[in-house]
Order: sequence, then structure tokens, then C-alpha cells
Amino acid sequence: MLKLRTLSRLALISALSVIIILPAGARKTRQQEPPTPKYVFFLIGDGMGINQVYGAQNYNQVTGDGPKFINFTQFPVRTFVTTFSSSSLVTDSAASGTALSSGIKTYNNAIGVDPDHKPVNSICVWAHNKGFGTGVATNVGVNHATPAAFYGHADHRNEYEKIADQLIESDFIDFAAGGGFLTETRNTDHTGQYFEDKAREAGITVLHGQDQFRNLANHNGRVICFAKDPSRTELGFTMDHQSGETELSDFVRAGIDYLYGHFSKKGFFFMIEGGQIDGAGHNNDAICNIKEINAFHDAIDVVLAFYDKHPDETLILITADHETGGLELGDNYIMHPERLAVRKYSEEEINKRFRVLAGIGEDRRPLPNRRVPTWDQVRDFLREYVGLWGAVEVTPDQEAHFRELYHRAFNMNQVEEVQALYSVSNRIVSDAINYADKQAGYIWTHGGHTGSPVGLYVKGARAVEFNNCTDNTLIPQFIKRIAKY
Ligand SMILES: [Zn+2]
Repeated sequence: MLKLRTLSRLALISALSVIIILPAGARKTRQQEPPTPKYVFFLIGDGMGINQVYGAQNYNQVTGDGPKFINFTQFPVRTFVTTFSSSSLVTDSAASGTALSSGIKTYNNAIGVDPDHKPVNSICVWAHNKGFGTGVATNVGVNHATPAAFYGHADHRNEYEKIADQLIESDFIDFAAGGGFLTETRNTDHTGQYFEDKAREAGITVLHGQDQFRNLANHNGRVICFAKDPSRTELGFTMDHQSGETELSDFVRAGIDYLYGHFSKKGFFFMIEGGQIDGAGHNNDAICNIKEINAFHDAIDVVLAFYDKHPDETLILITADHETGGLELGDNYIMHPERLAVRKYSEEEINKRFRVLAGIGEDRRPLPNRRVPTWDQVRDFLREYVGLWGAVEVTPDQEAHFRELYHRAFNMNQVEEVQALYSVSNRIVSDAINYADKQAGYIWTHGGHTGSPVGLYVKGARAVEFNNCTDNTLIPQFIKRIAKY
């Protein structure tokens, strides 16, 4: 009874204080709609599960190498969304790209079409039709699945040339960036250059490398930014880069320069993909995955610098299209992220170097007059590049396994290869890296996607409303409503 009376007295006091304290007109302000974000950044880490994010953060904190906190793990809104497609509980990047761009569920491999193959409009069309600027940027091919879902329509994601043409012809993408144009070497002899020429004929300026991304704020007409090296279709894993190579953050800087220069009055929508996190996941390459997450963090830092100048008008969303590799953190209560620190190159690059040692050509066949490496040379190689028999202890059983692989490969000439989605590894290198990852507590379940939910991290104008997003299709629908597209 006493409690109740106290409570009601408290309620009365607080009601009175509202009446007394609130200035005239405050009631009216309360009923007004909250501010509309003008500048919307939508960042997608391809294959970036929650364990990938925190596995990178663990590594950075233990080794002191890399950001102590991945910036978006500190965003005020952190929730998770489901990613299933209309054809499977486990999505691919095309179906999830379409879910994130258009708010509809479709079948795996579909780009910007519904389950009946009917084209659907993306958030870039909605924004453009209301007068906003639009941009897409990725560190993989500019016509790869995720960016393609924001401007293209294709029954299958591998229709790269149709999708390249759609980007060139689209009148609703103001700024685009990527490694280069992907082509279908199986069906045609077109190269990326063919589509670049086509883009230029259509009046688009095509630029290569950050040295050319200058003064874009005042640039006339549409722009596509590519890697410095014109032979590339993607930027390549960041840990293999020489200094001065184009990074995702260079594209983000260029995109902001362009979009703010042209649309500072009305506002813009900018989609940015960290596309190579997925590749490192398919390869089951933990250190490469970590470095790609860190590169994504760097790109987001550029967005956060923009946010600091326009905090009331900017909305930043970070999510993933799905998880790749089924990454587990910890091997039976134990993690040793520092055991990965010896690795300076991606599995892809280590394989290239191993082929040189093993006398295997680019076509992956033994070279004529090859010198077969000794077991000691192979062991030294694995020590130098993977840390085995150094930072990573090798059990006698495991050593016997590597010796057996050596024997089969070099004494019996059975070169064994392991096929990942985007690359091929020599069996010894692949097994050595899997073993080292496991000893560090980064355990991969397989080389494909999983149906795990992914994180949604939001900061800025009206971020809190995204707490109600439970599925990936709701994200673009919420953006449409909140940004008034
Ligand atoms: Zn993938």
C-alpha cells in the first residue's frame, strides 16, 4: 500500500515537473517527425559473420596489430537479421544482395529479379527517382553479385556481360567503383577493356587508381573508379598489396567526394561492399579474413570522418549478406590468435610461392626440367610462411601426415589440389594452413556459406529504429521509409 502511494505520488510529481519545466511549444515539437537522414551509407561485408568480426577483434587485441575495436562493434545499435533466400535457408550473395537492395526474397543466383524472374527496383532507383545521388563501391568486380543487385537484373549472377551493360546503361547510378569489369571468358573473348571502352562511349569517365580520383566533386557526368592496375578485376587481398595499391577506402573517399560534391543539398545513398571477406572465408584462410575485416574497418573510418562533419544528417548501416566458412572461435576453451601473426601473405599468395618451390607452372602442371624440392625445403617453406615448427607446434602424427603428402606429391608425382570456390590450393599448403588456423583457435566448418544470422550495426540519424529489423529484407524497406525514398 505504502509502495503504491509512493509510486503515485512520484508519478504526480513527475507529471507536474513536466508541466512546469517544459517551455511553451515543446509539445508541438514532440509531435513532429524526427529528422530525416540525408546521407545514407549502407555497408555490406560479404560473408562477414559475427565470429569473423570478433575473431578479427580478438586477433588485433592480442597482437596489438590492427584496430583494438572494429569500429562498428561500438555502434549504438547492434542487432541481428536472418538471411535465408526463397530457395534455401542458406543464401548466396545474389539472393541476399537482392534482399538487401530491393527488400524481396528471391532464389539463389538471382540478381534483381523476383522468384518469377520479374525485375524488381532497387533502393538506388527509389533514391534516384526522389532526386538523391546514388553510388555503389566494392573491392571485387563492379558487376559481381552484391553491387549488381543494386542496379542489375539477371536470372543468373554469372551473366557478367549483361550486368556490365546494365551498369553502363543505367541512368540511376551516379558513381560506381570496383576492381574492374568481370567478363564471361567461357562464352566470349571480351575483356574488361571492351566494357571500359563501351562505358567511355556512353559518356562515363573511367578512372584507374587513386591518383586519378581527383577533384571528383566538380566532375561533369557519371564516373566509374577502378584499380590502379587495369588488368585487375578485383583489388586482390589487402595483405598481399604493395604500398600504394588501390584499397576499398580509396573508393569510399572518391565516392564521398563525388556524391557530396553533386548532391550536398538533396543527399545521397552510397552502398559499399567489403567483397573479399567472403573469398578469404571460402579459402578457409583466417589471417586473410582478419585483414579483410580490418580493411573494411578502414573504409568505415572514412565514412565516420564524414559522419563527424554531418552527425545529425548521416545514417550508417553495416551488415553482411551471409556468413561464409562456418567459422568457430576457440578449440575446446583455447584460442591463440598470435599464432597467426607469422603469416604475411594470403593462402593464394603462399600457393603461388609454393608452386615456384615445387616447380609447378601457372597451369598447375609440373614444369619441364623441374627440380623436385627436398622434404627439408618443404618444411622450411611451411615454417617461414605458415609458422609450423615455429609459432605453431606440430605433433608427430601431424608431421607424419605432411610427410606422406610430400611423398605422394614429389616421389609419386600425385600433385593433389584442393578446390575452393575462387581458388585452387596445393594440398600440403591447404592442410598446413587449416592446421595452423585450428591451433590458433580459428576453426572452419567447410568452404561454403552457412544459414547463420548476421549482425546489423547502425549509427546516426534514427539508428534506433533499426532495432526492429529482424530479417535482411526489412533493412531497405526501413531505409526507404526513414530517408523518404
Ligand atoms: Zn560466397
